[in-house]
Amino acid sequence: MSLKDRRLAELRSRIPEIPAAAAHARQREGSLLVDVREDEETAAGSPAGALRLPRGFLELRIEDKAPDTARPILLICAGGTRSLFAAEDLKRLGYQDVGSVEGGFSAWKAAGLPVEVPPALDASQRERYRRHLTMPEVGERGQHRLLQSRVALIGAGGLGSPVAMYLAAAGVGRLTLIDDDRVERSNLQRQILHAESRLGQRKVESGRTALLDLNPTIEVVAQDARIEAANVLDLLGGHDVVVDGSDNLPTRYLVNDACLRLGVPVVYGAIFRFEGQVSVFGGGPAAQRPCYRCLFPEPPPAEYAPSCAEAGVLGVLPGVIGTIMAAETVKLLLGLGQPLAGRLLLYDGLRGEFNEIAVPVDPDCASCSGRAGPELRDLAAVCGA
Ligand SMILES: [Zn+2]
Repeated sequence: MSLKDRRLAELRSRIPEIPAAAAHARQREGSLLVDVREDEETAAGSPAGALRLPRGFLELRIEDKAPDTARPILLICAGGTRSLFAAEDLKRLGYQDVGSVEGGFSAWKAAGLPVEVPPALDASQRERYRRHLTMPEVGERGQHRLLQSRVALIGAGGLGSPVAMYLAAAGVGRLTLIDDDRVERSNLQRQILHAESRLGQRKVESGRTALLDLNPTIEVVAQDARIEAANVLDLLGGHDVVVDGSDNLPTRYLVNDACLRLGVPVVYGAIFRFEGQVSVFGGGPAAQRPCYRCLFPEPPPAEYAPSCAEAGVLGVLPGVIGTIMAAETVKLLLGLGQPLAGRLLLYDGLRGEFNEIAVPVDPDCASCSGRAGPELRDLAAVCGA
C-alpha cells in the first residue's frame, strides 16, 4: 500500500463519505456544499448553489463564508480524493460536521444533479482587463477572483482616493466607500477622487461618481457613515479586505479590533507631512500575523498627538502610500507574493527613501492574543488641540 493510499484509508475511516444524491438532499436542507476544485475546473461546471473555494484558499476564506462552525459542510472535488484532505483541514479549523462527496463532481454529474456554469468574461471585460489576462499570475482566473471580491475602504480622502481608483480600475467587483464628510476645496490638493464640480457633495457620492466613470461594470456602495463600535461589524462584515485610510486613531483601533473578530485582513496606511507608512495586519491564519495593537499597543496621550486637521501633508504623498496599499490589497485578493505583514514599510519623501522595520506578533497583545477576541469600544479622539 502506497503512503497516499494508507493516508486515504485513514481519512476514510474518520471522514464520512456521502453519495452525491444524498449530498444534494443535505444541501437543500441547509448544508453548505463547497466545491474545492481549481477555477479552471469549475469554469466548465459546478454543482448548482455550491460555494466555489479552491482548496488553496479554503482555510483562508472559509471562516468568512461559513462563520458558524456548527453548520454542516460537504466538500466536493473532481473524484472524491482532494475533498477528503480538505475535510481534514476544516476539521482541524474547528468545523464539527464535515463530509466529503463520494465520487466527486463526476458522480454528481452522473447522477443527473443540477449543475451551473460560472459566468465567463464578456468581450468588453476581456478588452478592459487585457493586461491582466496576459499575466499568468493573474489571468482569467485571477480576474474572476477580483470581480468577485469585496473591499471596504475606510475614508474617501487622501489615501482612500488612489486606493479606490486603482481597485476600481483593476476590476474589484464591489467597493464599499465609508466616509461621512463632504468635499471641500482644501481636499482637492490630494484627494483625487473628488473634483471642483462636486464641491459640497458627500464624499462617498462624489467618489462613487468618479469610480463608476472609470469602471461602470463594478458595484460601488456608498456608506455615508462614521465608523463606531455600534456599526463597525455591520459596515465591515462580508468584505475580503478592509483598507484603512482613516485619519484618526480611535477609528484605527476600532477597525483593527473589529477586523480581528471578522478574520479580515486590514491594509493599513498613514501619512504625515513628507512621510508615510504601510503594513498589513491580521487576516492570516490565527496569531501568525501581527495586528495594529501589536505595533502600537495604546493610543498616545493627546498632548503628544499632532492635530489631525493642522498637520500638513505634501499633496502627492497619499498617492505614493495609497498606491502601495492598493497593490497590497490586490496581492491579498489574488494570494500573490508576500504581503507586507509583519513588516512596516516606511517612506521618507524628502530623502526619496524606503525603509522597513519588522513588526513581530506581540504575545501579550490586548487584541490578538486573547482567545475571546477584543471588546469593541469607542475611544475618545486623541488629536492634540
Ligand atoms: Zn495584536
